[in-house]
Amino acid sequence: MAALTPADTPSIAQARRLVVKIGSALLVDEHGLRRDWLSGLAADVAALRARGTDVVLVSSGSIALGRRILGLDPGVLPLEQSQAAAAVGQIQLAQGYQDVLGDYQVKTAQVLMTLSDTSNRRRYLNSRATLGTLLSFGVVPIVNENDTVATDEIRFGDNDRLAASIAVTIGADQLVLLSDVDGIYTANPKQDPNARHLAVVPQITQEIEAMAGDPISGLSKGGMKTKLLAAKVAVAGGCAMAIAEGTRQNPLQALVDGARASWFLPQGDPRAARKRWISGMKPQGQLEIDAGAVAALRSGKSLLPAGIVSVSGEFGRGEPVSVSGPDGRIIAKGLTRYTCEEARAIAGHRSGEISQILGYPGRAALIHRDDMVC
Ligand code: GLU
Repeated sequence: MAALTPADTPSIAQARRLVVKIGSALLVDEHGLRRDWLSGLAADVAALRARGTDVVLVSSGSIALGRRILGLDPGVLPLEQSQAAAAVGQIQLAQGYQDVLGDYQVKTAQVLMTLSDTSNRRRYLNSRATLGTLLSFGVVPIVNENDTVATDEIRFGDNDRLAASIAVTIGADQLVLLSDVDGIYTANPKQDPNARHLAVVPQITQEIEAMAGDPISGLSKGGMKTKLLAAKVAVAGGCAMAIAEGTRQNPLQALVDGARASWFLPQGDPRAARKRWISGMKPQGQLEIDAGAVAALRSGKSLLPAGIVSVSGEFGRGEPVSVSGPDGRIIAKGLTRYTCEEARAIAGHRSGEISQILGYPGRAALIHRDDMVC
């Protein structure tokens, strides 16, 4: 493999859509929420937003906060108690983010997810659409696992993997896990003076996995092992992932300024990964389009209602449909932004007529080119 140059290392200054995972140990200490640290993070997020970067925060801390509020004993809690603590702590956590980001006029939203929201296709599409809409409004979603309803079998259990799953779901190009370590080392740096820091991991080899054997971070829930599992999900979905030191003040700004971290490089870009995913789906309906629309699709354009001749099948918004030309041959597959009833109503009409026909404003494209494989 050719030697990697600094130019191959991703930089969050260039991120288009960034997911940041924040662990409990960074956010909560024996006095509760670490407001100063959180304010610094908010300043960093506001700066990224001002540059046009979409930002999603995946934040732990609800259980750590809740157990303090409830005065629960230290140590591992039984599941019911950690669920109860999460319910108590989550309000304060969300409020904390709203306060600090509000200081920078950044709007926030609370999104609580379970494993099935990313593995069940319908819910997956719903959560993707909601997060996408929040981002299009310039909102910073604050995501956590819905610890209160999730039983053991349907739990992510750790937010490293939840964050990776979300990053892939929303087509993020970068994921940063803020941790109490600045990356992955060839050996445990606390025990081995020869341990070497890896700034870039082009591929997660067996050798890399062996390095993550023991959790070297005592504070984070899963240690290095769950971080590597997260990295595998992220890079396979076309998203670069960094493990970075988060305990310092303004940790994201530090990364922009070149702080040390370990970057796992993506396998292909997120759009290509998404297209592979779409091409594997079973179409729920068919759209027949005219010759003009076929030419538009072939030149990389989105599918507009005007080019649609007929609609068959039953499908909801976000579901996969096949697209065929006048000769009946299937030329594309994509995720529709309208239900089958809406598609029938607007077929053959210009995009400017949509709101009059449906009685509410809709999207100009019926299938956006990012959601289509030709
Ligand atoms: N969802 C849990 C919480 O908010 C944390 C899970 C994790 O830290 O990985 O406390």
